[in-house]
Amino acid sequence: MSSGTAVGVGDVISALLSRISEAVIIADEAGCVLHISRTASEMLRWGGSPTAAALAAALCSEGDTWRGTLPVGNGNEKTVVLHKNRDRPGIILASLAEDGEAPGETGVDPLTGLPNRAIFLDRLHQSILGASRSKKSVAMLLVGVDRLAIVNDALGFGAGDRLLAELAGRLNQCVRATDAVTRLDGDHFGLALVISSLTDSVLVAEKVFHAVAKPFLIDGRELFITVSIGIGLYPADAGNQGDLIKKSESALRYAKSSGRNQYKFVSNDMNARARHRLELESRLRRALIQKEFLVYYQPKVDVESSMVVGMEALVRWKDPEQGMISPVDFIPIAEETGLIIGIGHFVLAEACRQNVQWLAEGLPHLKVSVNVSVRQLRSRTLVDEIGIVLRTSGLPAEMLELEITESMLVDNVDATLATLRAIRDLGVGLSIDDFGTGYSSLSYLSQLPITTMKIDRAFVSDVESNGKAAEIARAIIGLSKGLKLDVIAEGAETLAHIDFLREHGCALVQGFYYSRPLPPKEFAELVRRGPIVRDA
Ligand code: C2E
Ligand code: MG
Ligand code: MG
Repeated sequence: MSSGTAVGVGDVISALLSRISEAVIIADEAGCVLHISRTASEMLRWGGSPTAAALAAALCSEGDTWRGTLPVGNGNEKTVVLHKNRDRPGIILASLAEDGEAPGETGVDPLTGLPNRAIFLDRLHQSILGASRSKKSVAMLLVGVDRLAIVNDALGFGAGDRLLAELAGRLNQCVRATDAVTRLDGDHFGLALVISSLTDSVLVAEKVFHAVAKPFLIDGRELFITVSIGIGLYPADAGNQGDLIKKSESALRYAKSSGRNQYKFVSNDMNARARHRLELESRLRRALIQKEFLVYYQPKVDVESSMVVGMEALVRWKDPEQGMISPVDFIPIAEETGLIIGIGHFVLAEACRQNVQWLAEGLPHLKVSVNVSVRQLRSRTLVDEIGIVLRTSGLPAEMLELEITESMLVDNVDATLATLRAIRDLGVGLSIDDFGTGYSSLSYLSQLPITTMKIDRAFVSDVESNGKAAEIARAIIGLSKGLKLDVIAEGAETLAHIDFLREHGCALVQGFYYSRPLPPKEFAELVRRGPIVRDA
């Protein structure tokens, strides 16, 4: 029935195609031209059988887009882009455009007002260069309109064009000003984003679906469309902009063949990861609302007296289906999605509240340490938030300390310094967590308004087996003395670790040797029992 359909309405189609301004071709599945619009035939200056043969090959080529040169009349050649649509079985509907910038154009796609393909490619290239310098990634989102042909058929190409122009505006709203958007050809739009994680590209893809879901008002009618998105990543999927676009084209085909109205990454591994992340994200969101987070406390112990002198508050997630989930598995995602702000606030408020309650119950003064993530440190409201939590809980500022990892101190040095100073001005202590794993310089360190250095557990666990680790642990202890800072070691698991640390002048220790992180009740009982005695 394939060509039968076309022939049956052939006269109508021919009449139509002679009147529209678009360059379109209708061919059968072998690439044999059934109808060609006047504009298309003028463009090709219909060069007879050489043109027909080359065109057939182009029409039947893999993929939705073909770019190349076609022999045209009078022995000339023309570089063109063919955008193919195979939505109807047995028929190839193609639109034809001259490739490259049209003469006299200023880098703008006249239909949509977006930067044209050439400008986009250049910006994509720049993004790739920038990303490789800053160890980031670039995501190329190729957005294809699902079944634009239906709109074109029902309302004419003019309506289709107006829809594309409106869509272009909406897509432009989905990205930051520094990201690039273009109409690559026909009904394909390209979005190039510099991203720091897979999640960033997922978030933008979802924004696009959201933007497209609203009806399009075209010629007085409300139209609903869907799009499919193929996402290619640099450097994971491709090493240059040309390959990146090709990869995103194949991901787009995958999205379309999987049922349209969805996004797909190039690799299955990425698709699985994106799915897992999204799932985890929505569970995390729910967890925050349904109060599934708990705070455990791990004692900080004075090695000489074996008395608990403080504790680190460590968040735990009790998922109703999966049980206890470790913070190492969800903090990074909470960080990427911004959920860490809510979780971090909960831990801070709860740790302060708990500590005040313990004081009231007669426990000694203990300093509680709360971990702060990058996102929290960057937030403008962190300092105010700490102030409010201290006031509402009634916890004296000296009984609170914040732990910040060394790696968080490297970026935004000035802003970070200002925040840290403001926190110190409140009277709250500041500890550098995982010390020895970051890259802070000594001169920078000496400027930081910190009170404590916390030796990373990697060095502690290796003090016996690895001379270098022992040397680093010793050096950090020496450094803290020199800078007049407190020092604490984390991850002490054995008596040998404790002995080493005591001998080298590290008076405070946190680790499984004394205790694992405990639920509040058990922690209070441990403190009440007095010195922590371990069997030899
Ligand atoms: P961290 O701040 O360095 O916390 C110390 C981690 O070392 C804790 O893991 C603790 O249970 C573990 N640990 C303590 N002693 C030992 C030991 O002797 N041996 C070994 N192998 N491990 C020990 P946890 O509770 O799984 O937390 C992991 C990380 O998750 C924390 O590392 C911290 O970076 C993050 N985290 C935990 N709670 C929070 C929170 O409330 N907010 C933020 N932003 N991050 C948190
Ligand atoms: Mg910590
Ligand atoms: Mg640590």
